[in-house]
Amino acid sequence: MPNREVMLAKMTRREFREGIEGEKFSTAIVCVGSHEQHSEHLAMEHDIESVVHIAREAARRLYPQVVVVVPMAVGISEHHMHHKGTISARPGGWLSVLFDVVENMVRHGVKNVLIFNGHGGNTLPVMGTIDQMRYSLKYNAPGVNLQFCSYWDLIPRDFLLKHMETDVIPGHAKEFETAIALALFPENVRKEVMPGMEDQDPLLATAEKGRLYVEEAVEQTVEYLKRMMDGQIRMPELKHFP
Ligand SMILES: [Zn+2]
Repeated sequence: MPNREVMLAKMTRREFREGIEGEKFSTAIVCVGSHEQHSEHLAMEHDIESVVHIAREAARRLYPQVVVVVPMAVGISEHHMHHKGTISARPGGWLSVLFDVVENMVRHGVKNVLIFNGHGGNTLPVMGTIDQMRYSLKYNAPGVNLQFCSYWDLIPRDFLLKHMETDVIPGHAKEFETAIALALFPENVRKEVMPGMEDQDPLLATAEKGRLYVEEAVEQTVEYLKRMMDGQIRMPELKHFP
């Protein structure tokens, strides 16, 4: 397979089949993000591009154990719809597709699935329903481990506070996200409009800070995935009702 590929969408069916039959890809990262306004200065793809970058780097470091799936570039963003250009899914349909993707990957043979998030609006809908998915997996695919987290949750707060002027984590298009964009995709940052914006926090962002946040996020994601794979991070005890 060229370049030790980790992105499912870049693989042929043969490459994925031979991988999973050859005991590669025990674990899938399912990335979820948003397509929403990010203030006057950041591009709308910010959330999905950030989380996919971190997932891809972590998967490369764990090659050949982890495959990255990117089905959800649109997220739950009704609260951003008053800014033109935002695209938002309704929670029910969005969760239904997400859980189909998880179930599909389990059917293909992965043992661990991490739903990996880059957008705050997706958090409560997933957390409110993930146990229903876990019950279903428990009966239909015993032993499968399904987890959810946002990439910023994995970065120790002390680390971030040491390298930030503000304490808004992750915030929305503020210091944290702007620094990440400057580090990963500077073409998505309109620096020239920042001085005239009402919110001046983004001016505190630098590419150097962004590189620190991203590197720490990648390292912590690698550790989290390792702990999922070796059973230290497991599904919660699911109660049965009498
Ligand atoms: Zn964002």
